Amino acid sequence: MDNGLLVVISGPSGAGKGTICKRLREVMKDLKVSVSATTRQPRWGEIEGESYFFIDEEDFINRINNDEFLEYAKVYGNFYGTPKKEVFKQLEAGNDIILEIDIQGALQVKKNYPRGVFIFILPPSITELKNRIEGRGTDSKEVILERMKSVYEELNYAFEYDYVVLNDEVESAVEKIICIIKSEKNRAIRKKAIINKIREV
Ligand code: 5GP
Repeated sequence: MDNGLLVVISGPSGAGKGTICKRLREVMKDLKVSVSATTRQPRWGEIEGESYFFIDEEDFINRINNDEFLEYAKVYGNFYGTPKKEVFKQLEAGNDIILEIDIQGALQVKKNYPRGVFIFILPPSITELKNRIEGRGTDSKEVILERMKSVYEELNYAFEYDYVVLNDEVESAVEKIICIIKSEKNRAIRKKAIINKIREV
């Protein structure tokens, strides 16, 4: 069996990555989702092991030292990391898996696993982005200001990705990502197993 596809979705905070990934999961039922570990405090409604694995900093650093992360980064003062074991388990089982991570993390994955597909989500405008972050009502004024300052710099990284998807409307952004995933799964390089199987007969 060919390996599954590793899909990285990232982009500036407030670009709508979370909403897009949630919708993608509803539409593409077979798509696995990587659950990250974080030292951030849970927000209201977040579920341990589903939203994140909420761990303390000492535990996080131990896991870094044990090489347990495919990538990790400090984002707005908290650590976030992708558990390596689960991702490779899914890929080896032939399952496609999606990682919703920040840009620093995406660049690390690209270095360590260039076979992945890297998608940058673009917000329609800076004003819209600010409205979305404020509208979530989950972050303090200082955090919002910090996030907005990062956005201008983060946009420069769009060119490091394979695809850029404008999130002006969730359904159309999701549709584009589905097309990307379907096309990527049919790349000749990913069809070795089926080609070999046909050859055997
Ligand atoms: P939030 O605290 O709003 O859930 O996430 C803050 C940022 O951290 C978002 O940009 C999110 O994509 C990113 N993030 C979530 N999990 C990971 C991870 O495992 N690794 C990295 N590098 N970033 C992550």
